[in-house]
Amino acid sequence: MLSHRAQKIKPSPTLAMDAKAKAMKADGVDIVNFGVGEPDFDTPDNIKEAAMRAIREGFTKYTPVGGIEPLKDAIIEKLKSDNNLHYSRDEIIVSCGAKHSLYNIAQALFNAGDEVLIPSPYWVSYPDQVLLNDATPVFVKTYEADFFKAQLEVLEAHITEKTKALILNTPSNPTGLTYDKKSLERIAELILKYNIYVVSDEIYEKLTYGGFEHVSIASIDNAIKEKTIVVNGLSKSYAMTGWRIGYAAGPKEIIQAMTNIQSQSTSNPTSIAQKAAVEALTGPQDFINTMRAEFDGRRTFLVDALNTIAGVSCLMPTGAFYAFPNTSVLYGKSSNNTVISSSSDLALYLLEAANVALVHGGAFGDDNHIRLSYATSIQEIKKGVDRIRAALNRLS
Ligand SMILES: *Cc1c(COP(=O)(O)O)cnc(C)c1O
Repeated sequence: MLSHRAQKIKPSPTLAMDAKAKAMKADGVDIVNFGVGEPDFDTPDNIKEAAMRAIREGFTKYTPVGGIEPLKDAIIEKLKSDNNLHYSRDEIIVSCGAKHSLYNIAQALFNAGDEVLIPSPYWVSYPDQVLLNDATPVFVKTYEADFFKAQLEVLEAHITEKTKALILNTPSNPTGLTYDKKSLERIAELILKYNIYVVSDEIYEKLTYGGFEHVSIASIDNAIKEKTIVVNGLSKSYAMTGWRIGYAAGPKEIIQAMTNIQSQSTSNPTSIAQKAAVEALTGPQDFINTMRAEFDGRRTFLVDALNTIAGVSCLMPTGAFYAFPNTSVLYGKSSNNTVISSSSDLALYLLEAANVALVHGGAFGDDNHIRLSYATSIQEIKKGVDRIRAALNRLS
């Protein structure tokens, strides 16, 4: 008999959709894949070279659990120059991806009965990580009309004496939207008023568009910095999803607890990937701008095209690499007497009838939408949108 914990958990739906699309592709089906949650760029050569150098030099043994000093120093320098945040080595932990850092935070902070605020739509792993630690996810609905930013009154209405933390994600996966500094300042006041923590997932910070500038909530003042654990990583900014390097910065006692937990579970992240990460953070940064400019062009192309399809409406994202169109007016229509009544029905219909893979909004707690990743070429995006248009026009 499995543990109660294991019975509460579902596999990551985004990874599941990706696996299904890849399986169809392997069977020879010409799939346009909008399901992917990783950049379609290759890891830059200078980073790969650093890893190969590490192997050749024999840097292939255990390292300190929370990361090697040169990597911690590179992260400290990055947080200082990009985010105006000042941390020391004992306030930094390097983990096997940002997801692992988030998991360590959940282990270090949450008890059974604790409530954790999660603005919805949310990234798929937040609720399950909270559940895995016997705490309770409390969803705070956000609205398209507010560009999916959690509103203060709504947030406050969900706070109880059991509330332990808020998980904030900007730029957001799945909405592609961002919190401006003013909104963050107001949220920071709320956090301090109720003396809770904020877990700030900033993994997409380098991917912002239209002049939007990312601000870390921790940088607003020292008081909020004391209540914030900043989470970031190299997966998205440097196209390094497979290398598994992420990190967290926060109050010393929390980072120490996370490091103890990591010491009893995974130990250090891969020594070779850590060397590569030092090169990523301290070497030339022009790769990011090249990738960002490419995403920017695809973003406007995809969103403009989606908005010409009857029954689809999409906000223009300001960050990450996702479009999150509203498809709710299509629900109730049918194809061959099968009624499409939810985002998952729609995603399945588009996969089977149009050979287009994407993720249903229900996976992110919002059934009115679907998520399309534009981490794929303009040609594929054009082909995919044409297929979606044709398939949706066939609905009656
Ligand atoms: C991709 C992603 C992560 C996890 O990234 P890692 O590969 O584990 O570093 C964390 N948060 C969000 C919102 C993501 O989209």
